[in-house]
Amino acid sequence: MEGLDRFNDISQVVEADRAHVWHHLSQHKQYETGVDPRVIVEGKGMKVWDAKGKEHLDAVSGGVWTVNVGYGRESIANAVRDQLIKMNYFAGAAGSIPGSIFAQRLIEKMPGMSRVYYSNSGSEANEKVYKMVRQIAHKHHGGKKWKILYRDRDYHGTTIGTLATSGQDQRAMQYGPYPDGFVRVPHCLEYRKQWDVENYGERAAEAIEEVILREGPDTVGCLVLEPVTAGGGVIVPPKGYWEKVQEICRKYDILLHIDEVVCGVGRTGTWFGYQHYGIQPDFVTMAKGVASGYAAISCTVTTEKVFALFKDDPTDTMSYFRDISTFGGCTAGPAAALENMNIIEREGLLENTIRMGDYCLGRLGELMEKHKVIGDVRGKGLFLGAELVADRATKEPADEKKVQAVVADCMAQGVIIGATNRSLPGLNNTLCLSPALIATSDDIDQIIEAMDGAIGRVFA
Ligand code: PLP
Repeated sequence: MEGLDRFNDISQVVEADRAHVWHHLSQHKQYETGVDPRVIVEGKGMKVWDAKGKEHLDAVSGGVWTVNVGYGRESIANAVRDQLIKMNYFAGAAGSIPGSIFAQRLIEKMPGMSRVYYSNSGSEANEKVYKMVRQIAHKHHGGKKWKILYRDRDYHGTTIGTLATSGQDQRAMQYGPYPDGFVRVPHCLEYRKQWDVENYGERAAEAIEEVILREGPDTVGCLVLEPVTAGGGVIVPPKGYWEKVQEICRKYDILLHIDEVVCGVGRTGTWFGYQHYGIQPDFVTMAKGVASGYAAISCTVTTEKVFALFKDDPTDTMSYFRDISTFGGCTAGPAAALENMNIIEREGLLENTIRMGDYCLGRLGELMEKHKVIGDVRGKGLFLGAELVADRATKEPADEKKVQAVVADCMAQGVIIGATNRSLPGLNNTLCLSPALIATSDDIDQIIEAMDGAIGRVFA
């Protein structure tokens, strides 16, 4: 392609990157002192190649739980190409063929839901909900029910509004002050018990109720939760938690918003994480796996009941949802999302996710028997974590630098794994795995073998 052929040598790409690209979530000092910025140039299936030609097995789906169907999918590229030639863009006040079809297909997989609002990122999809909740409060609750509850250790995005709901303090630090009306509730990780009770799930949900009662139920409009917490340490909610959360939301007329930006579209082995728990949300947001990173797309999905609250009111010309996302009208997103969904169905990837997720959890369990630095392993589908501790009895977290050293050692072996990183003060100690949903048992074995060697070396 014209313009992409300006470099004679791939090393010039690395130098151009070093000189001009400001990388996400990166401390750049390292690139001035000998370390080369990582530039990924090719991908196929579960593998990626960097600018130096090194092959990596990607156990984190593009770094942040995104490339659910794996790299190099020609059918998605072709679907996007065909659509862009036919009709690339018109603002989202108009519809499109892929936008309409994908919305219909999505809703068929989400009983009880009815409307899809398109934008580009997980943060944006979540912000839309916050705006909807605020507008419902103005329009239907006399300005009350404007507060939004969020949970310790959950993350919902990078904008100021979504950072106001960051349960990960290190993400939000230094970007305040934040807007009012966002209130934190406790997390539900049973491994780090906050209450010494038998029925931990129910107790953790009751802790949400306590916050609602403290704030005043008539001030609380919405509760936002990740179905399985991702970057906060892969937290699978304890038994009974979700059912109780739903009951509490209904009791106090609070809208339940499930942030499926990570879990959505297959990651946990069901189309959506909440579908493991038999609950009925009012809002579901999704982004990463929706088009597996082949195009930018996010969706804010809601019920007909919520949608009806925004229908034209002849007495109030401001009553409709006055929001636009310019590129929420780009057709590449739903075209890619549609073919992404076709692939998951055609190749039975939900079933594979359950099978390989169970296999991987079992293999992590074997690692835990071998390495006493592993205090807990947990996961749902191909979304797994291993929490490292300095002492199993006290659960004192392992040294963060050593956790990062395990990640670096795996990288040197050609396996990319993740870890909670600069998000939770004192608790960045969980190794994270989220391979593409196409992973085989051989891939899992290779990942476990790399972790085994790395943990053994770093904690020798
Ligand atoms: N919600 C969750 C659970 C996430 O993990 C993320 C990003 O990692 C977001 C929202 C924000 O998504 P985005 O980075 O696309 O804005």
